[in-house]
Amino acid sequence: MYIQRMALNPILERHKGELDKCVTCAICQSVCPTFQLSGLEKLSPRGRIVLLRRIVNGDVDPSTVADDTFNYCTLCYACQTACPAGVKTDLLFIGARQEIAASKGLPKAKQKVFAALESPDRVEKAVRLGSLAQKTLGEGTVNKLAGGMVVPKLRGKPWLKELPEVIEPEGGKVRATVAFFAGCMSNYVDARAAYASLEVLRRLGARIIIPKAQVCCGAPAFNNGDFGTAAKLAATNLALFEDPKITAVISPDATCGGAFKHEIPELLWDDDELAVSAQLVAAKTMDWAGFVLKHLDPRFEPTKEPAVKVTIHDSCHLTHTQPHAAAGIPGSQVFSPDHLDQDQPETGGSSRLASKSGHTQDNPAPAKPHLSVHKLLAKLQGVELVALPESTVCCGFGGSFSAMYPDDAARWGGRKLDSIGNTGAEIGIVSSPGCLNHLETVRSDRHENAYRLMHPAELICERYGWTPGW
Ligand code: SF4
Ligand code: SF4
Repeated sequence: MYIQRMALNPILERHKGELDKCVTCAICQSVCPTFQLSGLEKLSPRGRIVLLRRIVNGDVDPSTVADDTFNYCTLCYACQTACPAGVKTDLLFIGARQEIAASKGLPKAKQKVFAALESPDRVEKAVRLGSLAQKTLGEGTVNKLAGGMVVPKLRGKPWLKELPEVIEPEGGKVRATVAFFAGCMSNYVDARAAYASLEVLRRLGARIIIPKAQVCCGAPAFNNGDFGTAAKLAATNLALFEDPKITAVISPDATCGGAFKHEIPELLWDDDELAVSAQLVAAKTMDWAGFVLKHLDPRFEPTKEPAVKVTIHDSCHLTHTQPHAAAGIPGSQVFSPDHLDQDQPETGGSSRLASKSGHTQDNPAPAKPHLSVHKLLAKLQGVELVALPESTVCCGFGGSFSAMYPDDAARWGGRKLDSIGNTGAEIGIVSSPGCLNHLETVRSDRHENAYRLMHPAELICERYGWTPGW
């Protein structure tokens, strides 16, 4: 043993046995964006696991580990889904980030952002100032002030300030009551997806409660190893979203929904006061499209809108971290609307599929998409869904990944845009506002206009001419 280890953080302690499950087969490398971008073993899932074993065993001091080793990872979870041994790589890598952050401290810019997230007033002030600075000093200067991280173009005013506490359904008949979680990307950067998500819910009969005191879901802090801030944010939100009158907790952002379903219960697993609350809210959290399908049962009338070809990028957080609530299909490459009635095969690693399907280490079976968005859009008249090759592969956003490694995030995003463009679709659907914003930025830099990108709710609103009615 090289160093005397202090206790591991609770998540790494709870899941360190996962490290022993890894048989170093490298199947995960072929689905890993950061391995494919870098070509480096140390920046692949297997390389990270081998290093983490040495950290956990006390052979490597975490303070000596280069920040990029675990930060240069989009946390897309593709490696976890592909792994034949079922290694929970996401929790291992987040646990590793916490160990490294605890041993040498988070960069100051991140510390400031995460501390501010606990107070909506402080975030609002920071966002106003940031937006003003972007307009007057330029975005490059703001990025320098943020320690070199790329800050997206900020709204001057938080979106939640523009909303009422409650939105009643069109026509007054309540089919379900939901609590709406906006998410930071909609609140502080671009609310187009969130506006449309609310409007579709309202038009189809949902009564929408919008807790105005909601704060960040905590995913950025959690994913960067700041578990203390993430737990405080979770506690604030759980108190607001535990209301028994609510049928479901909905977010237009698959990342925030994934945090409520997956990351917050994990974070608060041992918390005497909050563990049960975290499980209750997780059980009520549904992806936006899944909720619309299940509780609002939409029947879309024909419209006069011209027929349109649409292709769907499957968000990592819907594909890998939110349970496969809907029936599915064996691989997105062969997607067609006819497949929507087939049963979802058992989820599992590539090697289990390999013997039947011919997928190999170099060509593992694709992750199965979460089908609620596909099913919802298949109900629209005049919308032809076309298959998107590699639809479940990450778009390169990865939260702080695109802020820290903008060039590589853009390269990987460009790959996704190439796929969308090659389908001949006029519209590419992206279900997470963060991914949408990222891909829009890359698309605009490439001056591509052959197709548009939008959230599924925007497509529905556009085809029916629905505009916010509150
Ligand atoms: S696929 Fe799983 S078992 Fe194989 S190297 Fe990757 S993490 Fe380890
Ligand atoms: S989460 Fe994604 S980027 Fe990170 S190691 Fe796994 S496959 Fe690679």
